[in-house]
Formats: sequence, structure tokens, C-alpha cells
Amino acid sequence: MSNVLVTGGAGYIGSHACKALAAAGYTPVTYDNLSTGWADAVKYGPFEQGDLNDRGRLNDVFSHYLPDAVMHFAALSLVGESMQDPGKYWHNNVAGSLKLIEAAVDHGCMNFVFSSTCATYGEHDNVLLDETCPQMPINAYGASKRAIEDILENFQDSHGLRHVIFRYFNVAGADTDGEVGEFHQPETHLIPLMLDAIDGKRPALTIFGTDYPTPDGTCVRDYVHVMDLVDAHILGLKWLEDDKGSRVFNLGTGHGFSVREVIEQSRTVTNRDVPFKEGPRRPGDCAKLVSGSDRAYHELGWSPKRSTLEVMIADAWRWHQNGRYDR
Ligand code: UDP
Repeated sequence: MSNVLVTGGAGYIGSHACKALAAAGYTPVTYDNLSTGWADAVKYGPFEQGDLNDRGRLNDVFSHYLPDAVMHFAALSLVGESMQDPGKYWHNNVAGSLKLIEAAVDHGCMNFVFSSTCATYGEHDNVLLDETCPQMPINAYGASKRAIEDILENFQDSHGLRHVIFRYFNVAGADTDGEVGEFHQPETHLIPLMLDAIDGKRPALTIFGTDYPTPDGTCVRDYVHVMDLVDAHILGLKWLEDDKGSRVFNLGTGHGFSVREVIEQSRTVTNRDVPFKEGPRRPGDCAKLVSGSDRAYHELGWSPKRSTLEVMIADAWRWHQNGRYDR
């Protein structure tokens, strides 16, 4: 049974990935500084608390567990925050990832699965985004992820580090068993904020911008279920184990939904009113981010099973009503 080092394994996507890894017969070793994650989300393997920028701690963990692969989820990932404090993103995401990548190579761990983002593409007037689209991020979050992609490519060329890069579109939903789910503190993401507003736990949702060049004026995003997303990671790991070479894959469904459409679907799923108001644009937001690629479907054999808006909101709603982590 091989060990996989999962950075950010205490976070939303990382905890779902640990569950999928354990189900696939791997031992997920979570490495997380708990800056945004939750110790009680680590349920499927050992937990090592540590920071990406702590090279000594990384060395100890690599030496102890001798992982065959790294899945690197740990990152700051808020577009708005990245615009206000870009240095934080370059220190944590870029400098931290560089230390992790160097530690992996130094310890002979040459399989690396990386969480990147559609935010690396930036604005491309009304086109669907595929993996060959030029990467022109318009926020520091996207820029930090693009820089890490570059580092991986250099380390592939110079040190033979095999990698799979996944460019996520908008991740939503929760584990159907209710063991793990999305819980950010503070929360900034559309669907959990909307569910809180429906529940009366927060004031009305604010729609960030109604004057975008989209059919109803609000931003359009491509939502993908977290369980489908982590399934792709298991396929990515097997891709590397089969020595198929380094590759980039978009993870999205190719269907875009506006903020207003998400509100409408939430109303239908929960059968409750969605209190909302209209507000100004949030700096750094692209008008439309929709995947135009089925590379992951064709090459990895990925087939999302729960990535309809209805199912994602229903799963998020179930978690929202029952699940919480304690700090
Ligand atoms: N959004 C919004 N109000 C909110 C939070 C988000 O209108 O309170 C919009 C945001 O502008 C974007 C979409 O919802 O168009 C998804 O935002 P989220 O923060 O969930 O993910 P992101 O696209 O930034 O990764």
C-alpha cells in the first residue's frame, strides 16, 4: 500500500481526495498547517501538521513516510484576497510550492499531482477555455498558480519530475456520506454563502456585478462536483504510475451557469427563498470561465457522475445542514 503525501489534506478538496485515495488502496498522509483546514477533516490516514515554507519539517515527513507521490492542494485560493495582498500569495503559494517541489525531488518522490485553476487563463472574450489557451491571469491567485505550473515544467525538464496539472473550474458539492464537506472560515464562495443566506445564518447574498457581458449580466462559471474532481486525481495518479508523461487537464463540465442561475437552482433544490441583493463587481473576477475541453474525459477516462448543478447544490445543502468542523 503506497503512501501519498497530500498537502492541504485538512481542507475542502484535500479531505475528499484523502477519502478517495484510501478507497483506492493508498495511504494518504496529510500535511497541512491548519491555516484554513480542520484537524477533524483528517480521517483517512496520518496527519502531520506543517507549513509548506518549513523545509526542515518537509524533509522529516518525506524521510519518515517515503511517499511515492505528492498531491498538492495546499494553497491560498481567494481571488479577492489575492488582489488586496498579492505578497501573501507569492510567499505561500509560490515560495511554499517551490520548497515542496524541491523536497520531493531531493527525496526521489517523482510523481506530482498539482491543483491549478482556470483562473490562470484570465479573460478570453466568450471562448470556451481549453488547455492550449494562453494563460493570462488577471488576479494574483491565478498568477501564483501559473508560476507553480512553470516551476513544475522546469523541474520536469531538469530533474525528471513527472507531473499532472489539473486546472479546476468551480468546485462544489460535498461527500455523499456526509463525512467531509466545504467549510471555510471566513466563507467567500457563492454556494455556501447562498445556503447560509437561505438558512438565515447570514444576511442576504450580494451578487457581485450585474453588468458583465453575459446573457443576464452576472458572472458565468463552470461548476464541478468535488467527488468527481477527486476521482480525476486518482486517475491522474494512475496516469503517472503508468509513466504516461506530464500532462495538463482541465476539470470542468463545459457547461456554464450564471450567478442568477445558481440562485434559481438553489431556490428549486431547497424549496426556500434566496435573499439576495445586487452589488458592484468584485475586483479580479472574470466574466466567464467555462471549460472547452474534454481531454480529461478522453485521455484519463474521467466521467463525472454528480456534476449537475442540481445534485451539487443538493449535496452541499445536506452537508450544510448537518456537517461542521470544530477548531
Ligand atoms: N459571487 C457573488 N457573491 C458572493 C460570492 C461570489 O456574486 O458573495 C460570484 C463571484 O463574483 C463569481 C461566482 O460567484 O462570479 C463564483 O465565485 P466564488 O467565490 O464561489 O468562486 P471563484 O469563481 O472566485 O473561484
